[in-house]
Amino acid sequence: MAGFLSFFWGACLGSFINVLAYRLPREESVVSPGSRCPRCGRPIAPYDNIPVLSWLLLRGRCRRCRKPIPARYIAVEAVMACLSLAVWLRWGERPAWAAAAVLACGALLAVSLIDWDTGYIPDVLSFALIAGGVLAAPLNPLLGQGVWYWAAASSVLGAGVGFLICWATAAAGKRIFGKEAMGGGDLILLAGIGAWSGGVGAYDSLLLGSLVGAVYGVGRVLKGELRLADPVPFGPFLAVGAVFNFFVLLPLGFPFVPIR
Ligand SMILES: [Zn+2]
Repeated sequence: MAGFLSFFWGACLGSFINVLAYRLPREESVVSPGSRCPRCGRPIAPYDNIPVLSWLLLRGRCRRCRKPIPARYIAVEAVMACLSLAVWLRWGERPAWAAAAVLACGALLAVSLIDWDTGYIPDVLSFALIAGGVLAAPLNPLLGQGVWYWAAASSVLGAGVGFLICWATAAAGKRIFGKEAMGGGDLILLAGIGAWSGGVGAYDSLLLGSLVGAVYGVGRVLKGELRLADPVPFGPFLAVGAVFNFFVLLPLGFPFVPIR
């Protein structure tokens, strides 16, 4: 039952992330007006706004204009529902921490969508991640080994380390390749990731994100869809690295630094 509830709560959060990803770059309010059809702009009734289910029942079409509603809407809800369930399975015995961790995953998903769409990361979400990570640090089982002030210090340090290693990597990349590979938004995002997973976590996330991003970029270049000089948004890959690291790798101290 609790598993189902966390899944459903994740789906609702995913529904809100869809709104956030659409409205934040357009500088529209994220609370009002209520949900609207992305095609005809008419309001969506509450009974047509049940995450995942409504999209399936309406077969991916708006009830009013019958135009297709992009599958991305249900995909985001499903991904967020699965992330929420995964957090509950991993940390269900620590409900306060689990709730905070789900919100952090949601912020990373929203950042990814916005960076993917616009090539820019809204600083407000990254700063929220930093602040949230420091505030949630005393609950964080990944930091401080149960001593709350160590956890808070590790979180602040993690944010600093995240910012610095991202800055150093960007500077080195500019030296070697002569072009900007990362923007300022990536630096603050990695600081936010460090606030939740510490300096090692920020480092792991940068490493993993670069790896996945490189595989994606090289794949697109080989298929002739991208040129080598084309920019690739880095935020989604940092987020994938961060979430994967969050669940799987950090407790192992991947790759070189044994944590416990
Ligand atoms: Zn419509």
